[in-house]
Amino acid sequence: MLEEIWEQLENYYDEMVEIRRYLHQHPELSFKEYKTAQYIISFYEKLGIQVTGNIGGNGVVAKITGGKPGKTVALRADFDALPIQDEKEVAYKSKVPGVMHACGHDGHTATLLILAKVIHEFKEKLSGNFVFIHQHAEESNPGGAKAMIEAGCLENVDAIFGTHLWATLPTGTVSYKAGPMMAAADEFKVKIQGQGGHGAQPHKTKDSLVTASQLVINLQQIVSRKVNPIHNAVLTVGYFESGNAFNVIADTATIGGTVRTFNLETQALIKEELERVIKGTCYTANSTYEFEYDDGYPAVVNHSEETSFLASCAENIPGVFVQEGEPELTGEDFSYYLQHRKGAFFFTGAMPDTNGLTYPHHHPRFDINEKAMLIAAKTLGSVAINYNLTFSEEETNTIKIS
Ligand code: MN
Repeated sequence: MLEEIWEQLENYYDEMVEIRRYLHQHPELSFKEYKTAQYIISFYEKLGIQVTGNIGGNGVVAKITGGKPGKTVALRADFDALPIQDEKEVAYKSKVPGVMHACGHDGHTATLLILAKVIHEFKEKLSGNFVFIHQHAEESNPGGAKAMIEAGCLENVDAIFGTHLWATLPTGTVSYKAGPMMAAADEFKVKIQGQGGHGAQPHKTKDSLVTASQLVINLQQIVSRKVNPIHNAVLTVGYFESGNAFNVIADTATIGGTVRTFNLETQALIKEELERVIKGTCYTANSTYEFEYDDGYPAVVNHSEETSFLASCAENIPGVFVQEGEPELTGEDFSYYLQHRKGAFFFTGAMPDTNGLTYPHHHPRFDINEKAMLIAAKTLGSVAINYNLTFSEEETNTIKIS
């Protein structure tokens, strides 16, 4: 059965590429993906598959009921683009100035649509139910996942799986990781208020530029001296704005950055230490401050049994190399689904055939190897179909209670 499904996915590969390239040429920014959502809805409607739009925003959910009863597995693909000018020289480059699918979400969508089409064709022979979650706004806080969950997209769902096409990983690879896989991605901003004045009279001022410089250095000690070295964390100051003339002492200075962590304790510790260091540095400089800290997406924490199951499904696919990967400190709002349901997120290698020259995600020349979509579809398809054969009835009940 699975072999027939994989073969049919291959038969539809050209259509998958066509969909991906259409979406690539018509990208839309987070929370503004109206036409993309409509495109997805129309695709399902034409096939006679039950589909609902406007789920928690521009989200779309399609459902297929198998011929035999069983558990319900959800698969998720995001579909928003980024505010980046497409600088690739390809026929399918973005037609929208300043907007580009620079993270591969177009590929995620094409993968899921064709997989749904094939599952629909085979549905009478399949057990259980299949939910296709097309999520808007992954790239921008507060993200689409949370709102879609609140709108009920996980109702009656027993487990959820998703993948990210990963251009820095060789095509043909499926990379899994049980437990923390991607980090919580928080944002902070500090505005220091000193007292400006003449560049020749520092004794009559409180130099905010000097205070902020000390602060940037002092912050480097939080991860190196306060966080348990066994726990991973990053604190990056990404910008520093202060001063505008050679003979003026800056009245204010603003710095901001990101904190990346895998567990709540480390996140709370860094938040607390940040404020202490800011307070102390400003006290020394006799200056005041405003501190803002926004929690971003929580860490993506994969459930161990579902992760092993997904790895074993991928291992059965001919030509796929399965590896246990390293955690990444990038963020993903797939984390929210995993807080509500068992499941796993994984990377599908999508490195283009460009002799080792690979542009990273969010780069103006970013591209994927489209063949990776077929591997992603085969893996997600195997996971969704085999789930019913692998997990017992009692386990399903446990999942429902949580
Ligand atoms: Mn992404």
